[in-house]
Amino acid sequence: MPKFCPECGTPLQSINAKFCPECGTGLIQGTLTPIATAGTQIQPSTDDDWSKPIDWSEEEYPEEVTPSPVNAYELGTKLEEIVDSIYQAEGYKTERRVRMPGQGGYTNEIDVIARRRKEQVAIECKNFTSAVGIKEIRDFSKKLDDLGPGWRGVFAAFNDFTLDAQNFAESRNIETLGHEDIMEKWFAVSAGRVSRQGERLTLRSALSIKSDYLMVTTLPLQNKHLVEVSSARLTFHPYVKVPYTFKARVYDPTKKLHRFSDDGTVVIDLLDGKVLNKQAKKGGSILNSLSSSKQSADNVQTLKTFREVMDFSPSPEYSITIGSDYQITELKPEVTKRTVERATIEYITARNTQDMAYTPAKGDVILDIRHRKFVPRRSDIKLFKSEMVLVPKWAIYFNAFGTIYTKEVFAHSGTVLENTIQYCPQHFKLGAINVKKETTAVCEVCGKAYCSEHISQCPVCGRWVCSDHASVCSSCGKTFCKEHASKICRGCHQPLCSDCEVECPICHKPYGANHTLICDKCGAAVCPSCITTSGLLRKTRICKNCQ
Ligand SMILES: [Zn+2]
Ligand SMILES: [Zn+2]
Ligand SMILES: [Zn+2]
Ligand SMILES: [Zn+2]
Ligand SMILES: [Zn+2]
Ligand SMILES: [Zn+2]
Ligand SMILES: [Zn+2]
Ligand SMILES: [Zn+2]
Repeated sequence: MPKFCPECGTPLQSINAKFCPECGTGLIQGTLTPIATAGTQIQPSTDDDWSKPIDWSEEEYPEEVTPSPVNAYELGTKLEEIVDSIYQAEGYKTERRVRMPGQGGYTNEIDVIARRRKEQVAIECKNFTSAVGIKEIRDFSKKLDDLGPGWRGVFAAFNDFTLDAQNFAESRNIETLGHEDIMEKWFAVSAGRVSRQGERLTLRSALSIKSDYLMVTTLPLQNKHLVEVSSARLTFHPYVKVPYTFKARVYDPTKKLHRFSDDGTVVIDLLDGKVLNKQAKKGGSILNSLSSSKQSADNVQTLKTFREVMDFSPSPEYSITIGSDYQITELKPEVTKRTVERATIEYITARNTQDMAYTPAKGDVILDIRHRKFVPRRSDIKLFKSEMVLVPKWAIYFNAFGTIYTKEVFAHSGTVLENTIQYCPQHFKLGAINVKKETTAVCEVCGKAYCSEHISQCPVCGRWVCSDHASVCSSCGKTFCKEHASKICRGCHQPLCSDCEVECPICHKPYGANHTLICDKCGAAVCPSCITTSGLLRKTRICKNCQ
C-alpha cells in the first residue's frame, strides 16, 4: 500500500483506503476500479459467443454480409454522387453542378439535374452535420422560382430536416429526401431485387399493411380523379429492437455506495446501424432536457420511425401478393450483429454516463462537494433477445397536369411522413404550424394544389382553376376559367363572362352589362359611348339615336 496517492500525491492516512480521498483514484492493485476515466473508449466484446444473450438466429441475422458497394458512411460523404446514381438507376438522365441562368438574371448552380421524359428535377444536396433548417429550404425555393415553371424541386440531406423546414418544403411542393429515404432508395437500386407481378411474397417479422394502396392513393380533393399516380413503391425497411437492463453499484472515495440502473429498448436501423432513440440522459438537468427536446423536434422522421418500430408488433410470417399497381422492395439488413451490439452499448453507455457527487471529510472538517464522472462498464449492461421489425412504407408520386407530388406513409399505422399535395402554399408562416390549410383541389391548368380560398370552380364548365389561371368577370365579379371569361369589355378592357357580355344596339360593340345606361327618351339600353349625360342634380341621358 503506497503512502502517497500515485495520482495526486496526497499523503494517505488509512492503510486500508480503497480510494484516494482527494482525487478518488482507486488504490488497490489488481482490483478494477468501477470508475472508468473520462473518455475511455468502450470496446465491443470480441467473444464469439456474444450472440448468446442477444439470441439471434444465424438465419435471420447473417454474421457476414456481402459488403455493399457503398456503405452508410460513404452515403453521407458522397451524397451528390449517390443521389446522381439513384436517379440514373430510376431512368433519369443526370448532370451535376449545372449553372443555370435564372429569370431574375442570376446564375443558379444546381447540384444535380435529372431529366426523364417531360420531367425536369432540380436537386439540392446538403451534407450537414445537423438537420437542415428552414433557411436552406427557403433559399432553394427561391432558386426554383428563379428557374421558372416546369421544374420540380428535391432537397436531399443526409441529416434530415427540422419540423419547420419539413412543413415549409411540403407547402412548396419540394420533395425532401432524408437519411432514411436516401438509404432506402440507394439499397433498393443497388440490390436490384425486382418484384414480379402475381408473385406471393412471404416476409418474416414484418408489420402488416393496414393502410393499403387504395387508401394512400385516394386524396381528399374535389377533383381527385384528375390526379393520377405516376409511381408507387412499398418498401420494407429492417430495424431491430434491443431490450436491455443496466445495473451498477459504485463506491465513491468516501466509501458511500451509489446505485445506478436503467432499462429500456434501443431501436437500431439495420441498414446503417444508426440508433433511433433520442440521446436524452437519465436524470438529466434542465439543460439536458432542453437539448433533447430540441433534438426530437429536429428529427421528425426519426421520431416517427422510432414510434412505428416501438408501438407495434410484427407478424412472424406475413404474405402479400404483388399487384400491378406498385413495386415492392424488401430491404435486407446491411449491418452485422457486432455493429448492432456496438451501437447499442454506446447508446446505453452515453445515456447512463453521469455525475456522481460526494462530500469528502478531513477529520471533522466537511470539505466541498466533489464530482466524479460515472461511466458504465460493458459488464453492467445486459442485452436481451432482440426482435427484427420490417417496417412497410409507401412512397407515392402523383401527377396533376404535369406537377409531381410526393406522399410517404407508414403502411401499418398510416402515419404520414411527407405529403407535398396536402397544404396550400399561400398560408405557411414561419414557426406557425397551426396556420397550415388543407388543399381543396388542384388547378386544372397548372396542377398546383390550393385551399378553398385560393382556388375556384368555373361556374360554366366546372373546372377548378388557381388565381393565375382564373378570370374574374368585371361585370358580375364571379370567377371563371380563362376560357369562360375570355371576352374583353370595350368600355374598361377587363375580362367578361358570356352572361355579362351585351351588344350595344347602336355601335354593335360588346361591353359589360354593368356599364349599361338607359336613354331617357326612347328607353334603349346602350353602351356608355353611345349616350350623353347632362344636368348636375338631376341627370338626363340621351342616346345617339335620339340626339
Ligand atoms: Zn489522489
Ligand atoms: Zn393554375
Ligand atoms: Zn390557401
Ligand atoms: Zn370554364
Ligand atoms: Zn359576368
Ligand atoms: Zn367594362
Ligand atoms: Zn354603343
Ligand atoms: Zn334614345
